[in-house]
Amino acid sequence: MKKILLIYSGGTIGMIKKNKSLEPFDFNEIRNAFPELSDSETEIHHTSIKNPIDSSNMTIDNWIELANCIKENYIKYDGFVILHGSDTMAYTSSVLSFMLENINKAVILTGSQLPIGIKRTDAKENLITAIEIACSGIVKEVCVYFEYQLYRGNRVTKVNADNFDAFQSPNYPVLAKAGINIKYKNQYLKSSSEDQIKVHLNLSNEVSILKMFPSIRKEVVTSILNSSKGIILETYGSGNATTADWFIHELELAINNGKTIINVSQCLSGSVTQGHYQTSKELERVGVISGKDMTTEAALAKLMLVLAKSFDRNKIKTKIIENFSGELTI
Ligand code: ASP
Repeated sequence: MKKILLIYSGGTIGMIKKNKSLEPFDFNEIRNAFPELSDSETEIHHTSIKNPIDSSNMTIDNWIELANCIKENYIKYDGFVILHGSDTMAYTSSVLSFMLENINKAVILTGSQLPIGIKRTDAKENLITAIEIACSGIVKEVCVYFEYQLYRGNRVTKVNADNFDAFQSPNYPVLAKAGINIKYKNQYLKSSSEDQIKVHLNLSNEVSILKMFPSIRKEVVTSILNSSKGIILETYGSGNATTADWFIHELELAINNGKTIINVSQCLSGSVTQGHYQTSKELERVGVISGKDMTTEAALAKLMLVLAKSFDRNKIKTKIIENFSGELTI
C-alpha cells in the first residue's frame, strides 16, 4: 500500500464561514466533510503547519516549515500533497521547487475555490486526484494540481479569481490531464535524479518587485531600488522599459552598488529578449539580468534563494540564468 503525507497549510479548502468571512479551520473539518479519505486504497497520514492560514499571509517562515516537514518525512512516504490557498500557491510551488533539490518523489500542491463542505466544491476532485498523482511514482517534482490539470510548480501562475480553472502555465506544457484516466505527458516531466535530495532552508527577503507603468516617477523607482538587494523588474512585452536617462542611470547606480536586477515580462506568455528593441538595449548594457521566460513568482523565489548564499556578483548572475529546476527555457 502506498503511503502519502497530506500537509495542511490552510486556504479555502479547509475554511469555514465566521462573521460572514471565510477563515481557515483545522484539518478535522476536511476529514469530516470528506469520509472518502478514510477508505481510500492509500495509507494517508496528515499533518499541518503550526497555524493554518489564508495563503495571503504566507511568509518565508511557512515555506521553511513546509520544506522541513518534507525533509523530515521524505524517506517515510511515497509522495506528498500540500493543501494550500490558491492566492499564493504559485509562489509556494516555485520556491519549494528550488528548496527541494533532486527530489525523486511527487510534491503536489492543491486547494480549491470553494470550501470542502460546500455542495458544489471543487475540493474533492482536486484532492483525490492530487493524491492519486502523488502515489503514481511517475511524477518526481513539485507540481500544482488544479481543475483536471497538472502543472510544473515553477511555471504556474494564478489567472482567475472566480473560475475553478484558476491556473495557467503559459510558457510550459501541462504535465498531465485528468479525464477518465490521468494522461501523463512523459516527455515534459522531470526524469529521476541520480543525486541525493538536498534541502535549502535559507531564503532572503531583501527583494522587491518594480512594475513598470507609463509615467512612473523617479522617487518610486529610487525608493524600490534602495529598499532591497534584489529587484524583479517587470517590464513591457519582450523586456522593454522607458529609456529616460534618469531611469537607466538609477538602474546602473543600483547595479554598481551590488544590487541584482532581473528583467521579467508583464506579459503572461513569451520571453524577455534584451536588445531586441532599442528600449531594452540599455538594460542589457547596465547589467540587468534577463529572466527569459520565467514567471515573476519563479524569478522572485530564485532570487530569494540565490541572495541567501554569499555568492559574488558573477556567481549570482550565473545562478540566475542557470536552469535550476525547469523554471526557464534555455
Ligand atoms: N484566500 C484564499 C487563500 O489563498 C483563496 C484560496 O484558498 O483559494 O488562502
